[in-house]
Amino acid sequence: MQRNTGHCTNVPRNVNMESLRNGYLFPEISLRELEHIQKYPDSELIRLGIGDTTNPIPDIITSAMAEYARALSTVRGYRGYGAEQGNKELRQAIAETFYEDTGVKGGEIFVSDGAQSDISRLQLLFGSNVTMAVQNPSFPAYIDTSVIVGQAGEFQEETGKYRNIVYMNCLPENNFFPDLSTMPRTDIIFFCSPNNPTGSAASRLQLEQLVAYAKAKGSIIVYDSAYSVFITDGSPKSIFEIPGAREVAIEVSSFSKFAGFTGVRLGWTVVPKELLYSTGFPVIKDYNRLVCTSFNGASSISQAGGLACLSPEGYTALNAVVDYYKDNAKMICDALASVGLKVYGGRNAPYVWVHFPGLKSWDVFAEILEKAHVITVPGRGFGPGGEEFIRISTFGHRESIAEASRRLKSLFIHN
Ligand code: PLP
Repeated sequence: MQRNTGHCTNVPRNVNMESLRNGYLFPEISLRELEHIQKYPDSELIRLGIGDTTNPIPDIITSAMAEYARALSTVRGYRGYGAEQGNKELRQAIAETFYEDTGVKGGEIFVSDGAQSDISRLQLLFGSNVTMAVQNPSFPAYIDTSVIVGQAGEFQEETGKYRNIVYMNCLPENNFFPDLSTMPRTDIIFFCSPNNPTGSAASRLQLEQLVAYAKAKGSIIVYDSAYSVFITDGSPKSIFEIPGAREVAIEVSSFSKFAGFTGVRLGWTVVPKELLYSTGFPVIKDYNRLVCTSFNGASSISQAGGLACLSPEGYTALNAVVDYYKDNAKMICDALASVGLKVYGGRNAPYVWVHFPGLKSWDVFAEILEKAHVITVPGRGFGPGGEEFIRISTFGHRESIAEASRRLKSLFIHN
């Protein structure tokens, strides 16, 4: 435990914060990166670790934000607080662009400053008395926020798991979809598709099973579709494509990966009117209350950008950027497969998930860094199910991706 020797207040540390393990994955990777640069100052390091977008945002979108921002300096154009739930026009545009034929209405969409904040807000909404299940491996925010609100129970060193969380193994041997027949019931089921880190998208049949399971068990699915625009194989892009989902699911999503808004910040959450608590009380009413109390709405400048993203020109320009990243993913997958590695993902997501049977992911990470000067992410950082894997992000400029493909290929051809 870290201790400071200066003045201490009499405020106790939140015990839930004390229960958090391993810090956050990416700061640890940054530390390793720093050490590597100090050791090899001339190595041309390629960063395919943190899944941050790299390509410029199309001009039509930044111009809309600039114009909106400039107008704030005029008497006519000045605007203060907006609706807490988001700009009505943007909510409508999100419904029309991403939820055609699903029954989702603009009034059920809450615009936000990103999916990660929405995950925290949802945990605040559910509170500490619910149980939760999560894919193993998964994006760390679901588990960490569960720990912070006090749902998780103690951390068990032997298993690397929290006592009260149900870990749904999603590995190559079960086609990245959990065995629902043996799964203990939980109140909340976090499910991300396409999944970060495995890059695997659940099929329609699998999602039908998940919705039927949630309905039978009286659970709520929190579905994260932050990578849905990368889906190329016809898998559903929203849980609301599945009949019955409106009674059992919430969806969080984001402009981050689709529009390069990781720094601009914009996302949304869909809470259908039919979703009810055990008392019959509508979840949407509580979520609305929570958003009004703890948030106050997304930046109006970001929302102006969001509207431009969903204009016909903006949407076409963004899809070209997404296609560019998809070509990157194919290049990396082809390079690794050509040297006999078992490669997953890449087709429906900007992440390639590579299997190194019998090896520890931090060791593979360290070897790739040492010998190829490429930053990846050790799968273990996404949960015990990631132990023998590494994740490679395919966000990057083409020359870096091509160079990383060459280096990785030559590293593993000799192994
Ligand atoms: N959900 C998943 C699965 C992610 O991988 C990420 C970011 O990497 C987020 C949510 C966070 O999205 P945002 O930038 O909108 O907070």
